[in-house]
Amino acid sequence: MKGLKIRKPLEIESLESYDIISNREVEEIKTALEEGDLCKATEKIKQSLHEIENAPLNIAVTGESGSGKSTFVNVIRGLNDEDEDSAKTGVTETTMESKAYKHPQYNNVRIWDLPGIGTPNFKPEEYLAAVKFEQYDFFIIMSSERFRHNDILLAKEIKSMGKNFYFVRNKIDSDLHGAQQRRKKSYNEDKLLSEIRDDCIKSLHKGGIQDPKVFLLSCLDLNKYDFNQMQEILEQELPSHKRHVFMLSLPNISLPVLEKKRHALKKQIWKWATLSCGVAAIPIPGLSVACDVGILVAQMIEYRNAFGLDQKSLENLANKFNKDVNELKSVIKSPIVVKEINKELVTTLLTRGATGVLMFIEYLASNIPVVGTMAAGGISFGTTYLMLYNFLKDIAEDAERVLLKALESPV
Ligand code: GDP
Ligand code: MG
Repeated sequence: MKGLKIRKPLEIESLESYDIISNREVEEIKTALEEGDLCKATEKIKQSLHEIENAPLNIAVTGESGSGKSTFVNVIRGLNDEDEDSAKTGVTETTMESKAYKHPQYNNVRIWDLPGIGTPNFKPEEYLAAVKFEQYDFFIIMSSERFRHNDILLAKEIKSMGKNFYFVRNKIDSDLHGAQQRRKKSYNEDKLLSEIRDDCIKSLHKGGIQDPKVFLLSCLDLNKYDFNQMQEILEQELPSHKRHVFMLSLPNISLPVLEKKRHALKKQIWKWATLSCGVAAIPIPGLSVACDVGILVAQMIEYRNAFGLDQKSLENLANKFNKDVNELKSVIKSPIVVKEINKELVTTLLTRGATGVLMFIEYLASNIPVVGTMAAGGISFGTTYLMLYNFLKDIAEDAERVLLKALESPV
């Protein structure tokens, strides 16, 4: 049997059915509640949520001076060069110290701007010891124009220390621009990109790197070229408890990233729904629904931040694409997104939008016996689940519209 599909009965314009809960999730919930001891299950779930949300992630950005390390440290956090707490760009490093930059929303994610490696008698061992290599989850080696001998020496040393590294060939925009000037008639972007990629891989092979992972990027246009492949590979190669926070911390600049964020957040909904059964649920006046409004409020704010639909992130995005922030806001359909998300607002939504909840709870009760026997707990579970599911769906669609608006070329 496939997971539950439900119609939103009162919203005539959206009669499409959609997957709400997958069989895999039903199985996970069953396992968590197997012993019928809600208290025990809640403790475990809290632990699991704590672990994935607070997983520390430290990304080291290294490479020659001028290759774009500091610029990358900013754009990967969704910041522009002039924003508060952005790394200074266009300055030559003079110390051997690396500097940590916190992600504005996820403080356990830190991107480290490492000193440049350009000196002629570069000693990778000393360099890695000086920057305290052991604290990083992985290294990004940036270069522009081509990879140099020092990059290769460094990569080998990183590997021998048991860490992962990825090569970024930055400033692709300049390469393309240059070629466009030179080859006015025969210019072919795709061909040129694969030439650059092949050339990088070849020179790294020659230097003795067996299976180099190379990504072509432009920090000025991060959503182009190999950014999506890069986030895909980095995510896959991280330990599983770090993937969630890595995914959520990525800048909202491509549709695949938005889709992945939605997926990552959806996977956690059942946990929050289960937690909501544990707290003394407060009945909502005028409704047979009771649930923990605090959990809903906190999660909705979390979703808004993850998709960059808070005021500050919207301003940064507008700034980046030379758009007016109000123009971006004009495509947001969900009325909650632009308001202050608080208990009053969520309570209003609950009393208004309990559609489908009962049907959903019936489904849960017949598939997850424990939920059926929890009475008030079951209602709280179903209500929380459906509320978060719907809000996540709406906000993810808003984020998509905002991004497409930002990417629209000026008329
Ligand atoms: P760092 O020394 O490695 O930290 O390099 P910076 O981040 O300070 O960048 C050096 C210069 O390259 C700055 O003027 C940046 O604006 C510029 N730059 C960085 N990334 C790109 C890029 O992708 N394309 C272009 N055209 N310029 C870039
Ligand atoms: Mg720098």
